[in-house]
Amino acid sequence: MNKFDYAILLATRKEAERYAIEKRVPIVSQEGAALLSQIVSIRRPQRILEIGTAIGYSAMVIAASMPVGASIVTIEQDPDRFSVAENFLTKAGLLSQVQMCCGDARQIIPDVSGPFDLVFFDAAKGQYPDYLAAVRDKLSSEAVIIADNILFRGLVEEQGSIPRRYRTIVKRLREYLNLVNDQRCFHTDIHRGGDGIAVSYYQGRANHV
Ligand code: SAH
Ligand code: MG
Repeated sequence: MNKFDYAILLATRKEAERYAIEKRVPIVSQEGAALLSQIVSIRRPQRILEIGTAIGYSAMVIAASMPVGASIVTIEQDPDRFSVAENFLTKAGLLSQVQMCCGDARQIIPDVSGPFDLVFFDAAKGQYPDYLAAVRDKLSSEAVIIADNILFRGLVEEQGSIPRRYRTIVKRLREYLNLVNDQRCFHTDIHRGGDGIAVSYYQGRANHV
């Protein structure tokens, strides 16, 4: 990306951030964004899958750090957010690098072609185990999965009782953490910034049991 294109991408990302604050659209925390861009810079993924585009903010964070020739597939089920994201990503000059899909990720993932080197989960927290099951066969041997909001306001590590309306989400997030803490398949680091971010390094297909 040349300097001029990069400046447009950063300016559009800033605009999306302001839009998100004004319209109360959730976007990844500052800590999450910093971690995402750091991991993308270090691991240089070529194929990236994002679940939960919202208005395209995190896709722009990823795109700003990804290597030349890399591409992102991003999935969003809300048609209004999808079209806002389409506008921002077009403005950011990313249309040729980002493939946007509108619909439920659980239905769409089986049809997208991997393998993916980096996967970002940032959609419905109660569905993370489903997303993991769906992407499992589409991971490259060097893949890393980043899952946002994994500590969910501290409730995931809460020893006491969980408010009824959050019980299912907390149960599913704990289930997800158990799956990615299986040392044979993943090595997982939990980052406590923001709402908690799990970074899981895939140990390769050969280790599957
Ligand atoms: N990654 C974005 C924020 C995503 S917010 C950013 O940081 O900029 C979570 C989004 O996931 C919401 O827009 C919601 O509509 C979407 N979502 C929830 N469940 C989904 C599903 N099953 N498939 C696709 N998108 C989903
Ligand atoms: Mg999030």
